[in-house]
Amino acid sequence: MNTIQHYLNGAISTGQSDRFAPVYNPATGEQSAQVALATADETRNAIGIADEAFKRWSKVTPLRRSRILFRFKALIEEHADELARLISSEHGKVFSDAKGELTRGLEVVEFACGIPHLQKGEYSMNVGTGVDSYSMMQPVGVCAGISPFNFPAMVPMWMFPIALACGNTFIMKPSEKDPSTPMRLAELLTEAGLPDGVFNVVNGDKESVDVLLTDERVQAVSFVGSTPIAEYIYATASKHGKRVQALGGAKNHMVIMPDADLDQAVDALMGAAYGSAGERCMAISVAVPIGEETANRLREKLIEKLETLRVGPGLVDGQENDMGPLITAEHLAKVKDYIAVGEQEGAELVVDGRNAEFEGTGKGYFVGGTLFDHVKPGMRIHSEEIFGPVLAITRAESFDDAVAMINDHEFGNGTAIFTRDGDAARQYCEQIQVGMVGVNVPIPVPMAFHSFGGWKRSLFGPLHMHGNDGVRFYTRMKTITQRWPSGIRNETNSFTMPTH
Ligand code: NAD
Repeated sequence: MNTIQHYLNGAISTGQSDRFAPVYNPATGEQSAQVALATADETRNAIGIADEAFKRWSKVTPLRRSRILFRFKALIEEHADELARLISSEHGKVFSDAKGELTRGLEVVEFACGIPHLQKGEYSMNVGTGVDSYSMMQPVGVCAGISPFNFPAMVPMWMFPIALACGNTFIMKPSEKDPSTPMRLAELLTEAGLPDGVFNVVNGDKESVDVLLTDERVQAVSFVGSTPIAEYIYATASKHGKRVQALGGAKNHMVIMPDADLDQAVDALMGAAYGSAGERCMAISVAVPIGEETANRLREKLIEKLETLRVGPGLVDGQENDMGPLITAEHLAKVKDYIAVGEQEGAELVVDGRNAEFEGTGKGYFVGGTLFDHVKPGMRIHSEEIFGPVLAITRAESFDDAVAMINDHEFGNGTAIFTRDGDAARQYCEQIQVGMVGVNVPIPVPMAFHSFGGWKRSLFGPLHMHGNDGVRFYTRMKTITQRWPSGIRNETNSFTMPTH
């Protein structure tokens, strides 16, 4: 059995613990490896390595740091197919989607290559007579990243390229369900010339995470995962004096106005609801057509499209499937349970993915695309995140009702509106209590030079990921006010607050 270890000090490091977690190929249901789960002591050792490396890395000039990232970018491009296969084999998503994920991560590396421009700080001459003031943005120290299973490449790459470019060292704690891709990225960073100890991977579970949250040598914690854990991470790490950004779960609504191009909206919905088997924090899980007529037309078109949805393994010869399996047998059971709950709650089960048949899938964790209609706020399938290929239609009588319903929801990660009416779109963008909004764009994931983050219980902490927020998160500002001796020649002592 292949054992996935840790990556410390520029090399694979064999774990000391006797605890392991199984890693499966979700398309076959077979165990492909086991991953070592680090002990608290092993995690503390990794922090020590990163702390030591920080002394040197923080002194490397920004330009040299970004040159290493340029080489890393070239290596990712060179190994893109290999990395996408690795993602697909442990996560299950189809090959082109895995490559898409990698590209979105690569864009953050590209952004990070230009960080010297954003780390220039600020300067004001003559804030008082003969007094100048400037701010510098210094690295914070050892940073930790804890990532979810659904984007084993992209989410770690939301974090570490920016942290490293800003002069920090990093400990990545990937999801134990698909840890191989971050391990491979660590090797590529070393190949790109990153000094040993600057980027480390500790595989593990709560035991190692708790050390990262409490050890005083860790200065900043970035987390992406489910809301209960995000809340725990935020509370615990903040209590221990760290800066924290903790992104949580989601339930994303797409409003379809009566004037929308319905074919375009349906095509967009199919990808946004069922792509990656719905295991995306920006997946659309609730369609909100305005008015009965829009709802009826939308429903018919979705049923038609669902008949053509190709579900099967992510890695196949010939024509690719649209959607792969779920991540684990437990998650498959949970998604099937939610479908049963929806029926019990009185929603209309229009297409039941539990009945779908698949070819060549063995004991893989497959469920077909599922559609509910007449889902009402208050039902669990509306209020809770299912994280599977289950789309709910929640009919709304008016634009205002739709906005009120979405604003009432616990989560506020992403949303979209499909319309031809500029005024409706503009009102929507202004009124909606959600962090990322698409106008005729179904999955409005911001580019790397903007920032990614939700509102409400989809994000704990003030700063979003990557973009300017990412640079702010991974740097600490210091402001210097300076006056050279000629200006203080005739000064007497002053005991009042200085003003200029
Ligand atoms: P998860 O919360 O179960 O796990 C995330 C990470 O936390 C993993 O590394 C895991 O090992 C660790 N972890 C789990 N339990 C822990 C505990 N008790 N103490 C400390 N650490 C713990 O999430 P998941 O199932 O891997 O990922 C799916 C979730 O992530 C969904 O809710 C999805 O919406 C969310 N997500 C959010 C975003 C976003 O940007 N908001 C992006 C991707 C995924």
